[in-house]
Amino acid sequence: MRVLLVEDEQRVAGFIARGLREQAYAVDIAPDGPHALYLASVNQYDLVILDVMLPGKDGRSVCRELRAGRFASPILMLTARDAVDDRVSGLDSGADDYLTKPFDFKELLARMRALLRRASQAPRPDRLQVDDLALDTASHAVSRGGRTLSLTAKEYALLEFLVCNRDRVVGREQIASHVWDENFDPFSNVIDVYIKRLRAKLEESGSGRLIHTRRGEGYILSLQTGPRDD
Ligand code: CA
Repeated sequence: MRVLLVEDEQRVAGFIARGLREQAYAVDIAPDGPHALYLASVNQYDLVILDVMLPGKDGRSVCRELRAGRFASPILMLTARDAVDDRVSGLDSGADDYLTKPFDFKELLARMRALLRRASQAPRPDRLQVDDLALDTASHAVSRGGRTLSLTAKEYALLEFLVCNRDRVVGREQIASHVWDENFDPFSNVIDVYIKRLRAKLEESGSGRLIHTRRGEGYILSLQTGPRDD
């Protein structure tokens, strides 16, 4: 899941981004409205966290412009004061939910999960299952055949993306745009390296292959092995 965080206070932005990255989100930070609108126009974000208090163009204007430009992903607004008018105008400008600063990080994560659950076309349950592979999307616990797998945050994010797109071929570009942030180097082989590591962990105890390569196209997570699998 890739998140755009719009927050001008560097310290706060750094704190939120660090926490989200630990939770396997890919995070880009925009310090102001114009930068946020630019990033949203060139990248695919699954969710936006938008501070209402921004220099120049405030969060509500940014939100209105995003929606006017047909930006469809959920927007969670951060408001400084617990004022009813603030919350109402935030929601009226196109935000899906709001959180009053200061907030508990656990609550931010829970609200993000709720928004992502509602936004996904297919219902995104707390537990994802493919055959003997099980993912808990809240705790990020992963097991295969009852055996707990120890995955890094990035490995988890990649696996969750593949599971959410099961039986569909996903290209490297698509993977990069949802699992990595803007520092991703399109000329590196980092995705292939991660796929290799994931496979090793998934197949550790002799379980069958779930992640297949489609030459020239990308990867697919499926119980079926295709004709062009290697
Ligand atoms: Ca701010």
